[in-house]
Amino acid sequence: MKLTDFQPLAAIATTPTGAKKLQPLTQAAGATLWVPESLTGIDGAQTYTGSLKNHLKNLWQQHRSFVFCLATGAVVRLIAPLLEHKSLDPAVVVVDESGRYVISLCSGHQGGAEQLARLIALQIGATPILTGAATGLGLPGVDVLGVPFGWSRGDGDWTGVSAAVARGELVQVIQEAGSTLWQSHLPEKHPFYFGFPVSSATSQEESISPKARIWISPTQRRLPESDLPKVQWHPRVLWVGIGCERGTSKELIEAAISRVALANHLAEGAIAGIATIDIKADEVGLVELCRSRHWALRTFRANVLRTFTVPNPSPIVEAAVGTPSVAEAATLCAAQCQTLLVPKQIFFSDSDGKLIQNPTPPNRQGAVTVAIAQAEQEYTGRIGCLLLVGTGPGKLDQMTTAAQTAVASADAVIGYSLYIDLIYPLLHPGQIVEHSAITQERLRAQRAIDLARWGLTVAVVSSGDCGIYGMAGLVLEELQAQGWDGKIPSVQIFPGITAMQAAASRVGAPLMHDFCAISLSDLLTPWEVIEKRLIAAAQADFVTSLYNPRSKTRTQQIVIAQQIFLKYRDPQTPVALVRSVYREDEQINLTTLDKLLDLPIDMLTIVVIGNQSTRHFADWMITPRGYLGFDAY
Ligand code: SAH
Repeated sequence: MKLTDFQPLAAIATTPTGAKKLQPLTQAAGATLWVPESLTGIDGAQTYTGSLKNHLKNLWQQHRSFVFCLATGAVVRLIAPLLEHKSLDPAVVVVDESGRYVISLCSGHQGGAEQLARLIALQIGATPILTGAATGLGLPGVDVLGVPFGWSRGDGDWTGVSAAVARGELVQVIQEAGSTLWQSHLPEKHPFYFGFPVSSATSQEESISPKARIWISPTQRRLPESDLPKVQWHPRVLWVGIGCERGTSKELIEAAISRVALANHLAEGAIAGIATIDIKADEVGLVELCRSRHWALRTFRANVLRTFTVPNPSPIVEAAVGTPSVAEAATLCAAQCQTLLVPKQIFFSDSDGKLIQNPTPPNRQGAVTVAIAQAEQEYTGRIGCLLLVGTGPGKLDQMTTAAQTAVASADAVIGYSLYIDLIYPLLHPGQIVEHSAITQERLRAQRAIDLARWGLTVAVVSSGDCGIYGMAGLVLEELQAQGWDGKIPSVQIFPGITAMQAAASRVGAPLMHDFCAISLSDLLTPWEVIEKRLIAAAQADFVTSLYNPRSKTRTQQIVIAQQIFLKYRDPQTPVALVRSVYREDEQINLTTLDKLLDLPIDMLTIVVIGNQSTRHFADWMITPRGYLGFDAY
């Protein structure tokens, strides 16, 4: 979740220092900052009159989250009378007066207070204090683990199962539907056992006695009280095919769906949406129902629907709309499968609005056909987002706050293993983190796009700047190749300090005059092009930074580059070889153009070649600011 997902967000401070601490949240998180009448002159703040207790009572229902800059004791007393249940209460976060700590106080999981505390801490440079047991164990909360995938939380003893996880007891997970990605991103030591129901298990499995159980399935299970706490998540995999008479009410359609779901032990929470024929796209009852239940409405043309083989085709329907099946064919089409979970059933409403299945009542008020199919992949109900992030050269403090916040906001983080390691402190339990080898950039881009198209917020990280020999170009190219409309999934780019700037900052000011960057990697660029650019840069007296100078297999490119530069520049031209800048194993060597091959150069090194006027001074490399007094050409 990102900061703006916490709106409406109220930030409350009672002192001038506190108000200043919370002020950045008005911009970054779209928060409304409230201060008492007695505080004046606080930019962008609203004032409240009377007691904070009364004011909070008015704000409570309308806000998704609260940030207080107040003593935790005071906040506890203020919110205590307003709290209802963790599934309903807003996120409550407290920032201490010095702005050093951000405490997740209440609704850490379902309200998202832990995530809010993390993001605010990044924003104001503080330490988040998270006391949730799952987080402490590096685990996603049981009651939020399906959130990235849009699953619905079903019935169960959520407190009981969470407590078993916190105690490190064995928790059996029976997952019958939905993404199993979350399973592969758990820490090594976790309490989950992914097995079958104990009753149908082999003798070895029977000896495993779980202390709690999580069902992940479209089935609506009755969970009788027992000593084993159980919960159920419902991935949204069910598509409900609907055919209906014009004017059929929302209530009739909803009642018919409920009836079919109940009779087939299916959870309504597992419904992704409604599928029907395109001429029903404006059917008021359907549209209203989808809006009120947050269901998708997918419509298909008759000539698409008629290509499906269904169990119950109807010549009457075919004569009316040009396809022998609406409900059954549309649900198969939406679920992208061949077989129905529930074949069509027809319901009517009598003159009192009562649901009748058979026979057709005399004065019927509408008719609806319902069929259900199950999709392989769940519908997340979310619009995906690609965050293309430059992580800077290495050290976290060289990464922008916006980029850090982007990584912390993502459901999934994808990148080359070395860069993921460098940003490790920004990651949190429950995030999907995919490392890959350095050469797999295109695969990485495709994977990120697939996850974003599915609805996840995906951060793709590149070292330095993501738009300089980084992943931004590859992702945008790939999106374009896939016919992207420029909007969905949304794309946001977070720049970073590129290796050239980072290296320059460690050796002085070599980039003070016109400069360029050339990558010596001929994996994606023909060598002739690179050579032409080297000659042009050398001739034009650009300070030149060479990226990707030498790998284990590409050893000659840097030799040729040196020869080219020696043709146009003095052999004594200053050169900086900077390796792993701002990382633990940083190495800096200042040398000259004629000697640059005497020193180690590899793929973690950047080579900065000065221009005609660049000079060494002590341990520094300086390029004068202007041409004044200097005959460059
Ligand atoms: N997007 C990156 C560049 C990726 S190309 C950026 O903007 O910095 C990879 C090349 O960048 C490496 O071969 C090396 O030449 C250079 N590079 C990246 N990080 C570096 C670092 N920390 N120190 C020195 N060179 C680095």
